[in-house]
Amino acid sequence: MDKLDGKRVRKDIVRSNIVAVGHSKKITGTPTDLNNKSLVEVHELITKTIDRSCNFKSLVHNKVVLIKPNLVRPGLNGLQITTDLRVIHSVAQKTIEDGAKRVIIGEKPGYKMPARKVFEEMGINQIAKKLGVETSYFDEEPTKEIEIAEAKVFKKIIIPKKVLDCDILINVPKVKTHIQTIASLGIKNLLGLILDDQRQMHHHNDLNYKLVDILRIIKPAVTVADALWPVQGQGPLNGENIKQFNTIIAGTDVVAVDAVTCSIMGIDPFEIDNIRIADMEGLGCGNLMKIKVKGTKPTKIRKYFKRACMSSMGAFPNVLSMEGGACQGCLSSVRHSLDKLQVENLLQKKEAIAIYSGMQSIKEDKNIAPNSEIWLFGDCACLGAKQKNGDLLKKVHIVPGCPPHVFDLYKAMNKTEVPTSMEH
Ligand code: SF4
Repeated sequence: MDKLDGKRVRKDIVRSNIVAVGHSKKITGTPTDLNNKSLVEVHELITKTIDRSCNFKSLVHNKVVLIKPNLVRPGLNGLQITTDLRVIHSVAQKTIEDGAKRVIIGEKPGYKMPARKVFEEMGINQIAKKLGVETSYFDEEPTKEIEIAEAKVFKKIIIPKKVLDCDILINVPKVKTHIQTIASLGIKNLLGLILDDQRQMHHHNDLNYKLVDILRIIKPAVTVADALWPVQGQGPLNGENIKQFNTIIAGTDVVAVDAVTCSIMGIDPFEIDNIRIADMEGLGCGNLMKIKVKGTKPTKIRKYFKRACMSSMGAFPNVLSMEGGACQGCLSSVRHSLDKLQVENLLQKKEAIAIYSGMQSIKEDKNIAPNSEIWLFGDCACLGAKQKNGDLLKKVHIVPGCPPHVFDLYKAMNKTEVPTSMEH
């Protein structure tokens, strides 16, 4: 593994404060339909929107272009949370049409999900073959370690070499609400550039600093946000699609694209930590007053997206969630798992469950719910229990980690044998 200094890999792409919004009343088909009519309609919308936002041709001509969609988890309970296949197809097609030398579609999907399998199952390999573009499974590529002197939390990033070798990066996020970051947009999509070993690092209150630290060295030349069928509610993994929202947002400044997208979703951009931090540090413009919007006015199509709720308190009749002192990492992971168990009708089959997260959640023995299946979630809860009464650790189920992965509780609750020690 080679090492590089962050300053040497910074690609100073010219960014402007122009963001284009494109909207169609009706688009045939669904996010996984690759029929001709649907592809033509989406391509028309994408071409018009991108060309309104920048001189795309001059950006991609004769360049090696990496397209980074969001393929986090395909086909989750029928929910479309990945970038629309038609959008990936269209962005790749336009990049070829505008004279790119080489086009590569690359991604590392969610934690422990092999890219090769996801590309195959989703049909990305077929799109690449049809258009004559390359694919890159980031988890199979050689990597480089990069030190970022200015980083707030994420000082060493191990990144696929392919990401550093391309001339420009086109960022193609799926627009979603998000339990932990309120919205998952262009800046959040950069998390897919790093590999499993570093995914869970700082995945608590520092996540937004981590995302901005990635943005310090990897700057997308263009961001094309897919809001054809965006996700609202308990996103990113358990919400609901807003069908036929048929909107694309594009621009050269990912922070500005995210800000305008927030405005369309009925969210003040400065509520989103990563937008606020990036704006304050001069990495882009999150201030709507300073952004020039072309195309459809956000107020014309604005819809107040249902927000995701991070806490599990009072959300499930048979669950007592004690969250004293827990941070975003554990709160969001517990909620992700409980939402999934509920959607799959598994939570309803359990009698009573008590989940403790955070250092302060277990105060005294008598505070522990009687006759319940008891879970300590995260290292803080384990430490809190150990300090109060070490014997507690023998009686309860434990999900260790800081934070544990979003589906660790889901998996542990579905096992006949569950971990009962901190060493697990
Ligand atoms: S273990 Fe503690 S610090 Fe780590 S994510 Fe959970 S609550 Fe936050």
